[in-house]
Amino acid sequence: MVYLYLLATFLFVFGIKKLTSIKTCQKGNKISEFAMLLAIVTTLVTFSNLSWGVIVAGLIVGGAIGVAIAKKTPTTQMPEMVAALNGFGGCASALVAIAFMLIDETLKDPAKRLWDTGPVNAISTPATILIGMVTLTGSFVAYFKLGGKKYAHPLKGANRHALHAAIGLAVLLLAWWQIATGSHVQMSIATVLITVLSAALGVLLVMPIGGADMPVVVSLLNSYSGVAGATAGLVIGSPLLVVVGALVGTSGLILTQIMCKAMNRSLGNVLLGGMGEETVAKDAKDYKSIKSTTPEEVAMLLDGAASVVIVPGYGLAVAQAQHVVRELGDLLGKRGCNVRYAIHPVAGRMPGHMNVLLAESDVPYDHLWEMDSINSDFKNTDVVIIVGANDVVNPAAREATGPIAGMPILDVDHARTVVVIKRSLAPGYAGIKNPLFDMDNCLMVFLDAKEALEGMVKEVKELAK
Ligand code: NDP
Repeated sequence: MVYLYLLATFLFVFGIKKLTSIKTCQKGNKISEFAMLLAIVTTLVTFSNLSWGVIVAGLIVGGAIGVAIAKKTPTTQMPEMVAALNGFGGCASALVAIAFMLIDETLKDPAKRLWDTGPVNAISTPATILIGMVTLTGSFVAYFKLGGKKYAHPLKGANRHALHAAIGLAVLLLAWWQIATGSHVQMSIATVLITVLSAALGVLLVMPIGGADMPVVVSLLNSYSGVAGATAGLVIGSPLLVVVGALVGTSGLILTQIMCKAMNRSLGNVLLGGMGEETVAKDAKDYKSIKSTTPEEVAMLLDGAASVVIVPGYGLAVAQAQHVVRELGDLLGKRGCNVRYAIHPVAGRMPGHMNVLLAESDVPYDHLWEMDSINSDFKNTDVVIIVGANDVVNPAAREATGPIAGMPILDVDHARTVVVIKRSLAPGYAGIKNPLFDMDNCLMVFLDAKEALEGMVKEVKELAK
């Protein structure tokens, strides 16, 4: 069995390595899927006395549920699905530790304390329940927030931190009780209380996070799900689970740091759950000099443009306009226009969202420009076309205060002309007004992104005849 564990571990690492490039990521996914299958079967055979029939039936039922959910989920709901899967990962780890506490026979002996199972095991058990439950409930609050729901924390400022600290302290004391007592009833009571308090902590920590700060939280919860897996591995003595959990935990933490940098936030703030507030500004739709235009007029503008930068945002995903945006880019490219796509690290609703969408429509990878590489070149750009992006191009980020203050943005307002495609003057995820829309060089196309881009493609083709 140990060789199968080693093989699964190697395949996980190899699969993740392949995920680092667009060209090899599909293969990486398949390798990791196989590694997961190998890991599940090996673990069940090693740790349970289930028959092969039950194991195969479980794989078929579980696999079928996974396929059905994946097929039913539209790509626009992928971010919610990622959040839910993080939550289920945390839940599975917490259940492993809870089950260990409640049904392990050695712990039922009054002469045995949890500590007697070994210090690593003893400390990992409450830690797994804590991290797993925080991941579960935090991820489901994130799930609903990604779907557009807004929540307000019952407390503000120092009181809020005091409540979180008090719950954290109570969990620590209960963990100490759980580890030190020899009574199985007391251990079980401590387990239930730790589970409930940790679940409440997860809700309270994620609830007040402001819209624009959610990417950091989503990647942090992803990391927590890995950490919970690793500590669950320590509880049941599974090196494979420790390695895989550590892989997810550390890669999630690296992603969190990338997100923190992209948002100009500190990881300390995120870990303490002290980031921004949930807001929808009262003046969010309060504009003075909006200039609206049509796809036909934009096509004429593009006819004379030598350089065009396309900025995709969440609206591109909603409209499923990734194929038509590529068609427009290709048409302009064929005319000799320099066409590039500017990617903000937190555009969309999940890390890498825009890269995934544009890869789906086969936009060449070297046409995608990261924010830091393209920002200095907007001043030399004739036309910027913003497709359903808002917060990531909002100059309000340059102000000293506000929900997105300090967040680096794509400096689209430096271009000669900016065309914004969106359906209305509604704010983006952060819920604030975007002063870009009032600027002299900004034109608005108030249409669904796909419809607007199809109109532009049609007109560009007409002009080329
Ligand atoms: P925003 O949410 O700021 O703006 C999207 C815009 O798209 C809206 O203003 C909306 O305006 C428009 N839109 C929606 N549907 C359509 C459509 N069918 N056609 C045309 N336009 C459409 O998106 P950004 O990508 O600019 O910014 C991402 C935001 O999400 C940031 O605040 C980020 O922090 C946050 N976030 C990112 C995560 C990540 O990991 N990337 C995770 C969680 C949150 P209208 O309704 O008027 O059409």
